[in-house]
Amino acid sequence: MSVRCGIGYDLHRLETGRKLIVGGIELPFDKGPVGHSDGDVLTHALCDALLGAAGLGDIGTHFPDTDPKWKGANSLVFLEHARKLLAEKNFAIEYVDAVVITEKPKLGPHFPKMREALARALGVPAEKIHLKAKTNEGVDAIGRGEAIAAYVVATIGAR
Ligand SMILES: [Zn+2]
Repeated sequence: MSVRCGIGYDLHRLETGRKLIVGGIELPFDKGPVGHSDGDVLTHALCDALLGAAGLGDIGTHFPDTDPKWKGANSLVFLEHARKLLAEKNFAIEYVDAVVITEKPKLGPHFPKMREALARALGVPAEKIHLKAKTNEGVDAIGRGEAIAAYVVATIGAR
C-alpha cells in the first residue's frame, strides 16, 4: 500500500453573536466564526488535508465561497464530499491528527463528540481521528480571542 500525507490549515475571525461550530459540534460560547459556510475551522482544515493528500486541490476548488449554495452550509457536507472523491480514487483514510488553536472556550471536553461527528462524516472509526487543543498564550489575534485556527495532517493509503 502506498501512503500519502496531506496538510490543511484554516483560520476564521470570531465575532460576537455567531454560532461557534468546531468539528461539526456547536459549542456554547458568545462568539463564533465569520464565514460563508458555518466557519468550522477544524472541518475545513481536515477537508484540505484530505484533498491535499489525494492531490485533489483544496476546499475552495470544490466549494467556492462565491456559490450561494454553500452560504451557511454545514461543513460536514464538505467532508462527506471529500470522502466520496477519495473513494473514487481508491484512497482510504488511515489517520487524522489535528490541532485547534483558540484562547477560549476549552475544547477538550467536546473532543469525544467532535471525533464522533467527524468519523461519521468520513466513514471511519473515531479511533482514527486525534484532536489536540492549544491556546496562543494571549499573543496575537488568536490570543486576543479574535480568531480561531486549526492545523490538520491526514494520512491516506492507496488500496
Ligand atoms: Zn474555513
